[in-house]
Amino acid sequence: MDVNKQMALKKIPTKASEEFRNFPMVPRVVYGKGSFNTLGDILMTKRKHSEAPMIYLVDDVFENTELIGRIPSIFCDQIILISAEEEPKTEQVDALVKMIQEKFTELPSGIIGIGGGTLLDLAKAVAIMLTNKGSASAYQGWDLVNKPSIYHVGIPTISGTGAEVSRTTVLLGPDKKLGINSDYTTFDQVLLDPDLTKGVSKEQWFYTGMDCYIHCVESLNGTFLNAFSQSYGEKSLELCKEVFLEDIEESESREKLMMASWHGGMSIAYSQVGVAHAMSYGLGYVLGVKHGIGNCLVFQYLEEFYSEGVEIFNKMLQKHQVKLPKGVCANLSDEEMNTMTTVALGMEPLWENALGKQWKSIITPEKLKTIYQKI
Ligand code: NAD
Ligand code: ZN
Repeated sequence: MDVNKQMALKKIPTKASEEFRNFPMVPRVVYGKGSFNTLGDILMTKRKHSEAPMIYLVDDVFENTELIGRIPSIFCDQIILISAEEEPKTEQVDALVKMIQEKFTELPSGIIGIGGGTLLDLAKAVAIMLTNKGSASAYQGWDLVNKPSIYHVGIPTISGTGAEVSRTTVLLGPDKKLGINSDYTTFDQVLLDPDLTKGVSKEQWFYTGMDCYIHCVESLNGTFLNAFSQSYGEKSLELCKEVFLEDIEESESREKLMMASWHGGMSIAYSQVGVAHAMSYGLGYVLGVKHGIGNCLVFQYLEEFYSEGVEIFNKMLQKHQVKLPKGVCANLSDEEMNTMTTVALGMEPLWENALGKQWKSIITPEKLKTIYQKI
């Protein structure tokens, strides 16, 4: 290496890579009503040969619907229907990978996730684990994945989580609920067709949509906020307010919420979520409460941290007459309550974003318990 190059390299402070994170983005995206019909052409260019299948992981809510018939399944492709009743688990990922490896001699040409955050996360994790050894649980954390994943595509059918843009796949493992956060997690291709979200029930639309709203509130009120996150967060918040507070036509509302989800995901990519997400992780770990509803259950009691956000949230709840369940934490044992607070407090970056470096002096296990007891 010539001396100038060596000097130039020496000048780069090692801390820079920690301070300025170099994130991957989804390199290709198709948008628009009816764009699902372009999937066949998109995949054709990615097929290695006829023995290397495309594997479609599809939410089983679509069983016997016309969507299944529109999936461009050819050669030895396989459609696997999966329930989204429970959030994805590392052992479920391991089982899927084993099944694919046993059935096909060749590595698949690609994995395509069709569904909500649950199916999108499963598709990301399976794509990673087909090229990385061992159990998915070994990769829960930050940047533990060594080898590039196989080609994977995300097709959301419900809007809000931002899983379509994020570099994580949230999994419930044997001892923790944590994402596989890596540069190889992000989708290679996303297809955003707002028509696919037509069948979502009102409650689920609200809960998953509120996940997006809460991403914005937590990102915009966090100490990690910067112009990058703010620009996406503000746009997403504006869209959420239109969708959940104004009377807009249904098809327009579907389009706007899909874009709100995308922008919300982009916003937290370069900042972080906050109190509601940390506490919702605790609820999810101990009681299996799902992400969207869990966030809502917690967020309603967070006026101390997000006063304006909670006020608007209550208006949204009222407008859509959504009744949140009560007494969810009523019968918890002391041990369960302790686990819940420990899991929540373990989400350190989320607390630091929400409350600053001194967060430990503001939030205590007792305080968290008081909030959980209200839920
Ligand atoms: P989901 O995938 O859990 O689905 C919720 C329900 O909606 C299910 O019953 C599903 O069958 C149904 N559904 C989905 N699309 C439908 C349609 N078009 N018609 C009728 N029903 C439909 O929902 P979600 O809220 O999108 O995802 C939650 C998951 O996402 C959690 O596991 C959470 O951990 C994860 N998540 C991931 C990220 C990330 O960045 N990777 C971010 C936030 C949340
Ligand atoms: Zn979320």
